[in-house]
Amino acid sequence: MSKVIFHSGENIPLELHKVRIVQKLNLVPIERRLAAVREAGNNTFLLKNRDIFLDMLTDSGVNAMSDKQLAAMMESDDSYAGSETFPKLQNKIKELFGMDYFLPVHQGRAAENILSQVFVKEGQVVPMNYHFTTSKAHIVLNGGRVEELVGDEGLKVTSDHPFKGNIDLGKLNALIAAEGKDKIAYVRIETGTNLIGGQPHSLENLAEVSAICRKAGIMLVFDASLLADNLYFIKTREAACKDMSIREITRKIADLTDVIYFSARKLGCARGGGICTNNLDAYMKMRELITLYEGFLTYGGMSVREIEAIAVGLEETMDEDMICQGPQFIEFMVNELNKHGVPVITPAGGLGCHVDAMRFLPHVPQSQYPAGALASAVFLVSGVRGMERGSISEQRNPDGSEVYSNMELLRLAMPRRVFTLSQVKYAVDRIVWLYQNREMIGGLKFVEEPKMLRFFFGKLTTVGDWHEKLVAKFRADFGDSL
Ligand SMILES: *Cc1c(COP(=O)(O)O)cnc(C)c1O
Repeated sequence: MSKVIFHSGENIPLELHKVRIVQKLNLVPIERRLAAVREAGNNTFLLKNRDIFLDMLTDSGVNAMSDKQLAAMMESDDSYAGSETFPKLQNKIKELFGMDYFLPVHQGRAAENILSQVFVKEGQVVPMNYHFTTSKAHIVLNGGRVEELVGDEGLKVTSDHPFKGNIDLGKLNALIAAEGKDKIAYVRIETGTNLIGGQPHSLENLAEVSAICRKAGIMLVFDASLLADNLYFIKTREAACKDMSIREITRKIADLTDVIYFSARKLGCARGGGICTNNLDAYMKMRELITLYEGFLTYGGMSVREIEAIAVGLEETMDEDMICQGPQFIEFMVNELNKHGVPVITPAGGLGCHVDAMRFLPHVPQSQYPAGALASAVFLVSGVRGMERGSISEQRNPDGSEVYSNMELLRLAMPRRVFTLSQVKYAVDRIVWLYQNREMIGGLKFVEEPKMLRFFFGKLTTVGDWHEKLVAKFRADFGDSL
């Protein structure tokens, strides 16, 4: 266990790796950041890397790879069919998850496309702990709907519940009774529940959900994209699992599910994805679509280099010293912000630190997108790029009215093994300053609004001239500092 208590009594995360390749970062003056955020229409997805200091947009495809992963990439065997590389990943999946059938896909949402096309019929429902943007979009595209059954605690911003990603079993039983088995395409559990703050579920909860599904004859699909963080939380927060190895917990999870799919942009610290199962019938149905959408069955749209890297990355995920870094750095950041009164999701989850924009900016109405405004303000004062996870990430109703999200969050992702502690401290320092000046921050309004997934390409402008006022206050407080 790599959490080290210092002599001072401080609980400081300690990296159990060293940096062997570095990339230069740019920290540009606030005046340049102002121009950049305007050019980007206050949408952090549209910012350019050259203007960004710490990129905390996402943990997707930007985790640091290990020396062993890079070495494995050099050994990859390139061929259209029959590559030596693919069986390495297939065998690793079999070893870790005990699943015989593996289908490669180019990334997580490709797995969701295939699962939804094969298993979701018009009018069916997919109960789940909580939706992820792309998972929901594919289910809806195939005529299905999503029912979110996360426990009430999961939607409370501040809590000390260790497993806020747990499904409410009463709600699941009630839904199955009300809809009947045939109306339910499958039950989906998302590990490390992304949109509610990277919050984990317990092994116990998964076992109970699995028992309910098996009794009812309903397939259980497990989105394992954020498995690494959830494994760490099961190991450290679930008393019954504290003496189990990460490998044992992984196998127990897999045995409780019928289909596992994942984005290898997160799990395995590479790029790609996959679908695994022991159900031959399900495998055969999905297999046809792999060759249609992804590529031949031995690559599925991935390069052989990435496939090698995933096989090694999955093995490294079984090492607690490896998977602890993300959650521990996040916990440090959450605790530091919390200490200064900045409203954050507690307890700390995986994936990143989530700032509660609703409480940070109580004076900005949801119709002016507080989480989007906060993302814009944080970038302006620090060069730290976060991601809006609030109403901008929702889609309007068919009648054009807004769908307001349950939470308005600014997500500051912590790509695994990428940042140093001083960089995290810098981000905390600027966010604390911004919090002290929060009344200056105003809202946003759309100037360009795409119909689908508007958060990727939409452009917004500030309501009023609060950007300029913030820059002036920044210069007054920080002098000519960057
Ligand atoms: C990222 C993610 C996906 C989608 O994966 P991509 O590789 O980005 O397509 C699906 N589910 C969860 C929980 C994710 O975090």
